[in-house]
Amino acid sequence: MSKEKNPLFDHTRRKAQTMLVHGGMERSQHGETSEAIFFNSGFVYPTSAGAEARFKGEEPGHIYSRFSNPTVEMFQKRAALLEGAEAARGTATGMAAVTTAVMSQVRAGDHAVAARALFGGCRYVVEDYLPRWGVESTLVDGRDPENFARAMRPNTKVVFVETPTNPTLELVDLKAVADIAHAHGAVLIVDNVFATPIWQKPLELGADLVTYSATKHMDGQGRALGGVILGRKELIEADVHTIIRQTGPSMSPFNAWVFLKGLETLPLRVKAMTESAAKLADFFAGHPKIELVSYPFHPSHPQYDLAKRQMGAGSTLVAITVKGGKEAAFKVADALAVVAISNNLGDAKSIVSHPATTTHQRFSDADKAEMGITEGLLRLSVGLEDSEDLIADFAYALDQA
Ligand SMILES: *Cc1c(COP(=O)(O)O)cnc(C)c1O
Repeated sequence: MSKEKNPLFDHTRRKAQTMLVHGGMERSQHGETSEAIFFNSGFVYPTSAGAEARFKGEEPGHIYSRFSNPTVEMFQKRAALLEGAEAARGTATGMAAVTTAVMSQVRAGDHAVAARALFGGCRYVVEDYLPRWGVESTLVDGRDPENFARAMRPNTKVVFVETPTNPTLELVDLKAVADIAHAHGAVLIVDNVFATPIWQKPLELGADLVTYSATKHMDGQGRALGGVILGRKELIEADVHTIIRQTGPSMSPFNAWVFLKGLETLPLRVKAMTESAAKLADFFAGHPKIELVSYPFHPSHPQYDLAKRQMGAGSTLVAITVKGGKEAAFKVADALAVVAISNNLGDAKSIVSHPATTTHQRFSDADKAEMGITEGLLRLSVGLEDSEDLIADFAYALDQA
């Protein structure tokens, strides 16, 4: 007698949270519950002819962990489910993901356009390294899509943006910029760390490649460095795979395992952190010691309508400008008891940073002013602590300023 098959055996019919717990799982002959860590660099072949067939691509199977590894592959399959991507590749760090994605799409003589408000390392790649390798780059104010249209040239191959931006949480209209890039035959690469894949899905809005620092929300507990690139099969399995295979920014199997476990709880953690971030934004907005609060889902955000259009929620970061400049900002940060001073983000532990003197200190005053990085600016990454404790921590600290 044939039984009716449970429709949930069809992976495509499962909900996102279910897929992030089970997606990509490949059990070994031992039937382990948790994903196994294949902590090996190489693989053996049954015969010389078998090795030949695998190198020729005539037989499936792993060759060397720089190219592919069973644990890393499980992570890649699960990460691809985050945005319904056709394919994904893990990398050693988030910066390796960004550098690999950008480099896979350009050669000497090409041109790239990027929004000027970028994570420090990303801006370095676009502004300093691309020109060294013969790829000119133009940085624009990303808030107005028209600025991208004006910067496009016949040889523009890549448009690179992050949104919300670091550290001031300005937004880029992804759909509008994707249309502009495609009209000029360029690919749009989006660094989606700040929004998280839970609240923003750039591939659905037209992006060609999406990069993440898995170090941030995917691990979410400050343990491991890693990155991932998502996109269409033809881009990931050709350009992106080849540059990883041949230049070696590969993900460690151990780190892949950490991120696999992180993905299981990612939606729960991000939702809880976002709820607290929204409460803190409300608290800051009414506080007399605060000059400005920037949070995409707070009605005071200048691009509030765009935020509502392209994001599902305001995410886990809040930027505040404390009245009284650097001295006041330092006083607030130093008086915090629960929130730690650090430059990481997306962690279970809440973290505050002063961009003007740390992550963005190398920029000139003019560049800082252009990016909205003032002396009173503090960037807050909201963690998993009780939001009442976080508000009480800031209430006390702001009183000291
Ligand atoms: C942290 C971060 C990166 C770099 O990631 P690493 O894992 O530290 O290399 C890139 N982009 C953004 C937006 C980040 O927050």
